[in-house]
Amino acid sequence: MNMNIQNAYKGSLIGFHVSIQGSIDLSVERAYRLGCTAFQIFTTNPRGWRPRILNDLEVERFIEKRIEKGFKIVFSHMPYLPNLASPKIDVYSRSVETLLNEVSRCIRLRIPFTVVHLGSHLGEGYRNGVRRIVDALNLASSLCKGRVKILLENTAGSPNSIGSRFEHIKDIIDGVRNSGDIGFCFDTCHGWAAGYDIKTVSGVNETVEEIDENIGVEKVYLIHLNDSVGGLGSHIDRHEHIGLGSIGVDGFKNFLKSCLGERPLIMETPVDERRSDLDNMRVVKKIISEL
Ligand code: MN
Ligand code: MN
Ligand code: ZN
Repeated sequence: MNMNIQNAYKGSLIGFHVSIQGSIDLSVERAYRLGCTAFQIFTTNPRGWRPRILNDLEVERFIEKRIEKGFKIVFSHMPYLPNLASPKIDVYSRSVETLLNEVSRCIRLRIPFTVVHLGSHLGEGYRNGVRRIVDALNLASSLCKGRVKILLENTAGSPNSIGSRFEHIKDIIDGVRNSGDIGFCFDTCHGWAAGYDIKTVSGVNETVEEIDENIGVEKVYLIHLNDSVGGLGSHIDRHEHIGLGSIGVDGFKNFLKSCLGERPLIMETPVDERRSDLDNMRVVKKIISEL
């Protein structure tokens, strides 16, 4: 991959998770209309097991429209049902299959990154959960061949879930055979809910340092920029519009001042009447212009 996104100028790669409803190529137009310079999609139904079959025509259209609109970068997000840490053999094998299908669809669509959730060991032990995730990533990695990077996303930290601590991400990356295929996606809402202070200057510094020590800041390929309904350490995974939650405008100012503010920023903010996507975009751009 020859994309130098590590040092992308702050806010130059910014966008939303957009819908693929109707046909996958329509996501490109949706992102374009919102003023995005990067965007994220599900490549299949996020709440089902059965993969959506992509036809060649929509794949072609997606690739063409993306070039036409000048999107250098697109992210995919894995469906929600898979649990790559599950001790239940049937759930686990379907989860691994879903991951492999996702990587294959990304290759077809020329999407260079896919975001995955790490799942829950369901009380059967952290170590066993990590081993199952590592096995799944090793299988997927043999498909990636430098064309797709798998980004592990941090979680808000519900009981038995893996991925709320940077140490978890470290254990997984240390375990995989080809760590070059694996990166990290930091979700601000999840990090805050898991107890990482990203609101105060000292908290941001400590959090960035902890990411660097455990994972390496160069492995952060994406920021999910979401405000949070729940408070610091609440373990509540509920996203809020930028500035309207408990992180707040001043919190995002401090966060975006850090080196993580240079990464692509994707919002997964709510869809409701209180605030439009366009207005969330305006708020973030205003914050960045005032850094
Ligand atoms: Mn996610
Ligand atoms: Mn997220
Ligand atoms: Zn979330």
